[in-house]
Amino acid sequence: MNITAAVVHEKGGPFIIEPAFLADPVNDEIRVRIVAAGICHTDLNSRDQFYPMPFPAVLGHEGAGIVEAVGPLVSTIKPGDHVVISFGWCGQCPSCADGQISYCWHHMEMNFSGRRFSGKAWDMPSPICLPVENDKPEPISGAYFCQSSFATHAICTEKNAVVVDRDVPLEIVAPLGCGLQTGAGAVLNTLRPKPGASIMITGAGTVGLAAVMAAKAAQCRIIIAVDMNDQRLALARKLGATYTINPKDEDIPAAVEKLVPGGVEFAIETTGNPTVLRNSVDALQVRGICGLIGGAKLGTEVSLEMTHLLFGRAVRGILQGDSVPKDFIPRLIKMYRDGNFPIEKLIRHYSFESINEAIADMKSGETIKPVLKMP
Ligand SMILES: [Zn+2]
Ligand SMILES: [Zn+2]
Repeated sequence: MNITAAVVHEKGGPFIIEPAFLADPVNDEIRVRIVAAGICHTDLNSRDQFYPMPFPAVLGHEGAGIVEAVGPLVSTIKPGDHVVISFGWCGQCPSCADGQISYCWHHMEMNFSGRRFSGKAWDMPSPICLPVENDKPEPISGAYFCQSSFATHAICTEKNAVVVDRDVPLEIVAPLGCGLQTGAGAVLNTLRPKPGASIMITGAGTVGLAAVMAAKAAQCRIIIAVDMNDQRLALARKLGATYTINPKDEDIPAAVEKLVPGGVEFAIETTGNPTVLRNSVDALQVRGICGLIGGAKLGTEVSLEMTHLLFGRAVRGILQGDSVPKDFIPRLIKMYRDGNFPIEKLIRHYSFESINEAIADMKSGETIKPVLKMP
């Protein structure tokens, strides 16, 4: 069918809204009319080729919408269902067999190859073509996170679509599929602090603020938010941070030592900056755990002090908040409805046509979580 998509044609280039063609769903695929799609830093990392994918490409991986058609193997989702779309996983590797689907051994191919998994290999092209005059159109990179939701319609799979109640506002819950579950899941699924615990969260963007809200919901007593932007720190305080640190003014481990002598029990690093990761580990108490969430360019290294680590401290990489989206997204929606996960405070809506403006506002720090509303 004919759709409209935001297409990136070159490294670092703009998103260009243009007509495209979307193939029909096959096998376990479903076609979704996208209602809203969040923009995540990972989209920009892909635009900038942190994880190489051939151009032109259609990105977008926090889509939500209404199911229009399903492939012949789909049994649990039907046209008319409202869905939040999350990351892809193969269902066959040791991690998937163990229920740890965010650590799918094929996470990179499933989500970043620009192609589709046929059940055996990534030998199916994406379902998206650009129109070509007098010639057979060639598929471009799509199937980004098994969705490519910067478009009016997307093909995802039964596995990565989560059915939600029809009265849930899709333009609010769209980012649950990546950024929000990533931050909240790191706290609620991975670190699981006990009531009264101490936690530091570096980076007060979407992921960090989702972690702050989750830490509050988990009744942490000390929640320290760290960011260079004072406005974001003010928002972090509104959402539950009990202390804030701006590293422009203070050294992070020294400031933590003043607030929590001996260091924090938990840290969550969302910035992907090696110096901040080092600071986070340095601020841990004995047996403390630092969850690493922030994505850095492939090949980025960090140095850590070995004796410090020896005292039971650990760094744990966390993808997608260890979430199984079909379980965790409904849990987060319940928290949102109960007023314990006020995600609407992070979101600003933009029209699909304003995608480049939305990205500029996200880059400048003016907007925390831009969400595109499709026409
Ligand atoms: Zn897998
Ligand atoms: Zn993301």
